[in-house]
Amino acid sequence: MSFADTAPNSGLRTLGDLGDVAGRRVLVRVDFNVPLQDGQVADDTRIRLVLPTLRALRERGARLLLVSHLGRPKDRDPAFSLRPVVDRLALLLAEEVALAPDLDHIPDGDLVVLENIRYEPGETKNDPQLAARLGALADAYVNDAFGSAHRAHASTEGVVHHVARSAAGLLFEREVEMLSATMSDPRRPLVAVLGGAKATDKIAVIERFLEVADAVLLGGGMGYPFLAASGRRIGNSLCDAEGLAAARRTLELPGAEKLRLAVDLVVADDFATDAARRVVNIDAEDIEDGWEALDIGPRTRAAYAHVIERAGTVFWNGPVGAFELAPFAAGTHAIADAVVATDAVTVVGGGDSIAALTKFGVEDRVTHLSTGGGASLAFVEGRPLPGVVALMRAPSDG
Ligand code: ADP
Ligand code: MG
Repeated sequence: MSFADTAPNSGLRTLGDLGDVAGRRVLVRVDFNVPLQDGQVADDTRIRLVLPTLRALRERGARLLLVSHLGRPKDRDPAFSLRPVVDRLALLLAEEVALAPDLDHIPDGDLVVLENIRYEPGETKNDPQLAARLGALADAYVNDAFGSAHRAHASTEGVVHHVARSAAGLLFEREVEMLSATMSDPRRPLVAVLGGAKATDKIAVIERFLEVADAVLLGGGMGYPFLAASGRRIGNSLCDAEGLAAARRTLELPGAEKLRLAVDLVVADDFATDAARRVVNIDAEDIEDGWEALDIGPRTRAAYAHVIERAGTVFWNGPVGAFELAPFAAGTHAIADAVVATDAVTVVGGGDSIAALTKFGVEDRVTHLSTGGGASLAFVEGRPLPGVVALMRAPSDG
């Protein structure tokens, strides 16, 4: 199922708005923040994801200068060099790729990667001088690093004010389209499945979905403060004072009746594969001290799957249990099965949620995998993202 016929015009400038780029230098902000191991790229997913944008621009004759951050280097620590990324990119594109050591030494060439932009102290401060120097290197700017769009940095926001033309790349455009459609124009019912470890990380997301969704299904460690706040005894399950206070407040909000909490939980006497475990019907019995919940139980799995099956749109963020340990993966697996089986539009975001889908081998069976991490959640919360705002069409634009 796709949003094609319902997607609202997000107002974002896209590659088509750039005009003729043949022979022009286009500065492309990409997300090459990949895991490295022994000086090699350990997982090149993020590099592969931007290839369509790079190919589209190359086919139009653009000369590319790619800009990315990698980790959080102190000074110019060579451990954070983009050298390994350059080598992998050259392999993937079957083209020569040059590495520019800094802004003052950009080699001639059709495909150049600038060294880690966080080697520049002005980057994270959105220093106007750095932004102007970046802008001076290019005729146009494209941002395909949606995962950094919630930060106003020189390469994600400031630079836009120093180039004549700017636009979102294909990946960025699709993230904004899919997330806006989910939040502002979803096929109904809109069902949010929210899990993960900590309630305080996700409380703003829960509250936003109480406003726009038809049902909000809670699972995972995040759900326990809500159970505790509703008067259940949860033993040693994850729950801190801050999470409990946040859950109490949220349960008082208008829309709180849309929240569904687990009715049964898999509890264990240790966070370990070989722990003793049993199912507790938390709607009728307590979790004893010494036991902690690590997954949703079979009744909750069936109930949630039933809601997902009847949804028009499903947004899922956060595993509903400690799925990394095999005995506690069944709940998250059941949610994944329901999400890929429903006829609904399905949008799944979050690093660990995507890791779970990948582990179950179904990551290519959802409508949209939202790879934007914290930026995707900030977008869903309804916060204006500086990197997105900078690429919005002004009313005066054609
Ligand atoms: P995402 O990266 O998809 O946004 P989070 O980072 O919020 O998700 O949460 C993922 C983590 O939450 C996983 O590592 C998972 O093991 C953990 N988790 C979920 N439920 C529990 C639980 N009941 N006890 C311990 N950890 C849990
Ligand atoms: Mg995570």
